[in-house]
Amino acid sequence: MAEEGKKTKLVLPKTFDKCPHCGSAARFCPEALKGDIPAEEMEKEQPVLFSFEYNAQPSGRLYPVKLMALMDVCVECGTVYAISLMRFVGRPALPGGGNGGRRRP
Ligand SMILES: [Zn+2]
Repeated sequence: MAEEGKKTKLVLPKTFDKCPHCGSAARFCPEALKGDIPAEEMEKEQPVLFSFEYNAQPSGRLYPVKLMALMDVCVECGTVYAISLMRFVGRPALPGGGNGGRRRP
């Protein structure tokens, strides 16, 4: 396969709205959940493909980061693929250990 149009810079969140194999936009979860829950609730009901948490410390301050990929399955060809890639960044920990600066008596 040719590597034309290959991009190296990752910009998040990133979504994929169709199957990377056959190009169909029909996905298992929206099709199977249809009628069971309101359409606007549909995106919240996506299974998580993977979730990964770590602490980043780029400038001395520690803060939590969570990477998450939501998945679905193409109903035309059965390919499992990520429909959304996300990165959540939490608040930096407070200096001095992260217990809010409280001292024990
Ligand atoms: Zn497909």
